[in-house]
Amino acid sequence: MRPKTPFNAWSLIRGGLSRQQFWQPQWRKAGPKGSYDVVIVGGGGHGVATAYYLAEHHGITNVAVLEKGWIGGGNTGRNTTVVRSNYFYPESAAFYDFSLQQYEQLSRELEYNIMFSARGNWILAHDPHQRDRMRHSGAAMRLNAVDAEFHEREAVYENIPGLNPAPRHPVFGGLFQPRAGTARHDAVAWAYARAANARGVDIIEQCEVTGISVEGGRVRGVETSRGTIGCGKLALAVAGHSTELARLAGIDLPIRSFALQAFVTEPVKPCLDTVVMSPATGAYVSQTDKGELVLGAGLDLYVSYAQRGNLPWMERAAQGLVDMFPQFSRLRFLRQWAGICDVTPDSSPIIDESEVVGMHLNCGWGTGGFKAIPAGGVCLAHHLATGIVHPLARFASLARFASGHLVDEAGAAGIAH
Ligand SMILES: Cc1cc2nc3c(=O)[nH]c(=O)nc-3n(C[C@H](O)[C@H](O)[C@H](O)COP(=O)(O)OP(=O)(O)OC[C@H]3O[C@@H](n4cnc5c(N)ncnc54)[C@H](O)[C@@H]3O)c2cc1C
Repeated sequence: MRPKTPFNAWSLIRGGLSRQQFWQPQWRKAGPKGSYDVVIVGGGGHGVATAYYLAEHHGITNVAVLEKGWIGGGNTGRNTTVVRSNYFYPESAAFYDFSLQQYEQLSRELEYNIMFSARGNWILAHDPHQRDRMRHSGAAMRLNAVDAEFHEREAVYENIPGLNPAPRHPVFGGLFQPRAGTARHDAVAWAYARAANARGVDIIEQCEVTGISVEGGRVRGVETSRGTIGCGKLALAVAGHSTELARLAGIDLPIRSFALQAFVTEPVKPCLDTVVMSPATGAYVSQTDKGELVLGAGLDLYVSYAQRGNLPWMERAAQGLVDMFPQFSRLRFLRQWAGICDVTPDSSPIIDESEVVGMHLNCGWGTGGFKAIPAGGVCLAHHLATGIVHPLARFASLARFASGHLVDEAGAAGIAH
């Protein structure tokens, strides 16, 4: 006999929400107003986080986020979701660890499941020199209160299930950060956008900024595909397109843009419960909750704005994966894509006001700005609201490229991340 109450797939999918709650848009569709106190260009994680913190920390809500595509459609929705704070220099360690601390409680703060998973992050040492350098780096990180642990080869094998016992690049040890892990990338953008909107911010999609108006050295507004919008202050958080946008205001940034690719395999049962990075092969891997393996590798070797993959990197990523985990050799890739990363000379970001008064920059995240979204948002919102650089963002100044006070984190993991 059939049960009286038939199985209701919808109520399962809606997860306890009523039909009306379930279908409620996450943010209001807003048309642009004539002007705002603050206009933020770029609806990636950094843009929407900045909008949220402007409202939440500083009570500034006459704010618009202008996004040429859709929220999270840039690098924020294209990355490999690794969050960690094992950076070498004290300034970056403080900044990224603050960000990780925000991630640890973000689902609660924003009332949105960002699927943060502190599954730990391993960086493998493949020769004795890397092992010695890694041991020193780990000690330096611990001095900066980052939970970095150096482990000898035996411990690495005890902790990483299925790691190849005889890889082409032998394993001599590994640096482990237990608090590191992954978070669902687009959920981070959606959560911040929803929270910012709930506090009064206008989230305006399909609105491309095509011009920036500057009068007497001060920013006045932007030209967009949906008309002219005036602003008291302007923030550019457009990742791979920072140089193009800054140029609209006559500013040349010390940034070059490269494509970075990611690859996803077909799903398999849970078999990898941590993030593994292998600098020697250039590949890194984690497993999603759905079972797919997510792989990343290095930047393309030439500058480009093409958001698509190519076969040479796919081959290298596959080689790296199979060297680490030969048992994955039969998996098929399902998807491959790229995002455009804006790389500074020292691989550290820029969070600063530009020479155009009132025009602020949040850029230069290169291959690692997803983990920085909460801290980037807090710092940029603080600077916009108070006119004072947030103490955590002092290292991310534009002036360092003239003074030479670079914070060279290019070797933060020896790998894109
Ligand atoms: C393949 C890949 C893997 C990565 N893996 C990691 C990782 O594991 N961990 C990590 O920490 N980081 C990682 N990153 C880096 C990270 O994704 C970025 O640094 C971060 O997402 C940057 O966020 P954002 O908000 O600054 O930029 P974006 O998310 O790119 O947002 C910028 C937005 O600006 C919009 N925009 C551009 N021009 C205009 C315009 N003229 N008008 C209006 N809007 C405009 C774009 O459409 C875009 O939505 C990875 C990046 C890639 C590409």
